[in-house]
Amino acid sequence: MTTFDAREWVYFSSGNANILLKYVGNSDPNLTKKLLRLKRVGNKNCDERIKSDLLKDYFLHSKCIELSSKFLLDLNHKLIKTNPELAVPASTNGEILLISIFARNHGILMPNLLNEVNNTVHLGNHLKVHYGDSELVLEMKPKWLYNLKTRNCRNCCLSKYRGKQIINCPLDLLCENKIPNWSKRIVQKLRDSEHSINYINSLELILTEFFMKNKIIGYLFMLQNRYYDSSRESYNRRILNLKSADEVPIELIESQTLRDVTLFLNIHSLSRNNYDIVKDTVDKPKTLISINNDSFFEVDCKLIDLDLKTSLKFEYWKETELKLIESGLYTSDKYGLVGCNRIVDII
Ligand SMILES: [Zn+2]
Repeated sequence: MTTFDAREWVYFSSGNANILLKYVGNSDPNLTKKLLRLKRVGNKNCDERIKSDLLKDYFLHSKCIELSSKFLLDLNHKLIKTNPELAVPASTNGEILLISIFARNHGILMPNLLNEVNNTVHLGNHLKVHYGDSELVLEMKPKWLYNLKTRNCRNCCLSKYRGKQIINCPLDLLCENKIPNWSKRIVQKLRDSEHSINYINSLELILTEFFMKNKIIGYLFMLQNRYYDSSRESYNRRILNLKSADEVPIELIESQTLRDVTLFLNIHSLSRNNYDIVKDTVDKPKTLISINNDSFFEVDCKLIDLDLKTSLKFEYWKETELKLIESGLYTSDKYGLVGCNRIVDII
């Protein structure tokens, strides 16, 4: 069992399923630049993760560790004070309401992909750019990459339905000719934000080159659609006919999990010398980019949020799909929906 000291960990971020804590101590140098991920009470995701030979190089090197009850209790106590919004009543014991944050006595220790950055620009739904002096990180969820049969895609329809701004449609990343504009819109949006960001002049070309050279979007497209002949229609037939969680096939759980992974691109510059040294040996998740043979960059691509979804979510998936169908957004030419990309040629 690992003995950590709750005083050395602080809140970093949280989602519906997990809380991330950042190590700020100095008693264990191995923990520097590390995050500890703990499951939240109410988290229904499984402990099992997506397994995939195609994607395994993009997974973070993480380690599951057993934690002491004292550490978790101390941390729980600390977070209830610093982040009371995270606490949920876990159970009742007579008159006493127990407040708890964590659901398990083990956690995942993983590298902090945002260690070198300290500013964040929220560009839109599931799209952020983080930056610091020496690194820029693009964080995005490439959700619902599929062969479009309707006018508008599910990503754009759901964003519109929820009143979110659409900056970019992920389906553009499936077509080589559309990737440059996808990158251009990100850079334009960053310029509008008036943040002073390193590499901004090169970013459009870096992103374009990355998505043309690296296969990650193609892999996700294949895996998200492996069991459903790539169309929303067959997804609809399966999902709308489900009557209970027991009927949810594992293939659907895997597809839904892969439609919600988060992708990080960590971008930093290289000297010409370093570029020349590593250019022939660089491995799959990393892509090297040379711009006009004058500036050089390394892009490291990683995927997180790979815990399998629970079959209990089927009712939510069904409801969302029904709402979107009834809204008429899939076929609408109103509300700024201009029709999404139907060409898939990056595979
Ligand atoms: Zn779209």
